[in-house]
Amino acid sequence: MAPPHDEKAEIQVNEDSISQRSISNVLFIIAMQTEASPLVNKFQLTEDLDSVFPKGVPWVRYHGKYKDLSINIVCPGKDNTLGVDGVGTVSASLLTYASVQAFQPDIIINAGTAGGFKVFDLYGVGSRQAFYTPNLAKELSLKVGKLSTGDSLDMSTVDETAIHANDATVKDMEGAAVAYVADLLKVPVIFLKAVTDIIDGDKPTAEEFLQNLAAVTLALDQTVTQVVDFINGKSFSEI
Ligand code: SAH
Repeated sequence: MAPPHDEKAEIQVNEDSISQRSISNVLFIIAMQTEASPLVNKFQLTEDLDSVFPKGVPWVRYHGKYKDLSINIVCPGKDNTLGVDGVGTVSASLLTYASVQAFQPDIIINAGTAGGFKVFDLYGVGSRQAFYTPNLAKELSLKVGKLSTGDSLDMSTVDETAIHANDATVKDMEGAAVAYVADLLKVPVIFLKAVTDIIDGDKPTAEEFLQNLAAVTLALDQTVTQVVDFINGKSFSEI
């Protein structure tokens, strides 16, 4: 599960330290290539072939300028042995750590897909705000909810109990890891999650996930662009 979230304390800290600073350097952590590619095209980013990352790691970095923003999108890349996207918390935390060190972002955005629960009627794009972004959520009509993270796509009964007990409304495989590192290194972070599958629905999760991945990635792409347009030229206190 993602760590408990004390909104009041967080707002206080944010107000004291960073609110007037304008946002100019944005780091995206995106787990799957399918999720990242449309954004790389949209923002016209270029792949960094002479990577700042350690030699041999599969991590991929795209970067460039979009409007007034300097944007980095990083992905864990394909697992060296198995050739699949390096989803999950282990690679997400390492990649986040290395990217913050290398690019010194003002803000981290973890964008990706997630499973939703039908009982909460979450069918579109959901957002968990670790950094308090009331204006952004209102302006773009984003749903705000608690995100739960675990290292499997399917939900075990133990997970289910914990997820319900903590009122989580979406479930992914990276968010808590990114939140952990962001907190460790004191970088504000927001989460943008588009729902691919209804966990408590009728269809097997993996099947539904693959069926919806392309369409949902399109929705994610549109929302991320709106978020970046909204952030452009603003300070932390304005989002
Ligand atoms: N094809 C593999 C990989 C899917 S991983 C498989 O079937 O196992 C799923 C990715 O989408 C992760 O990056 C995760 O963050 C996100 N995701 C989408 N739906 C999810 C769900 N219901 N539970 C957990 N993660 C989900």
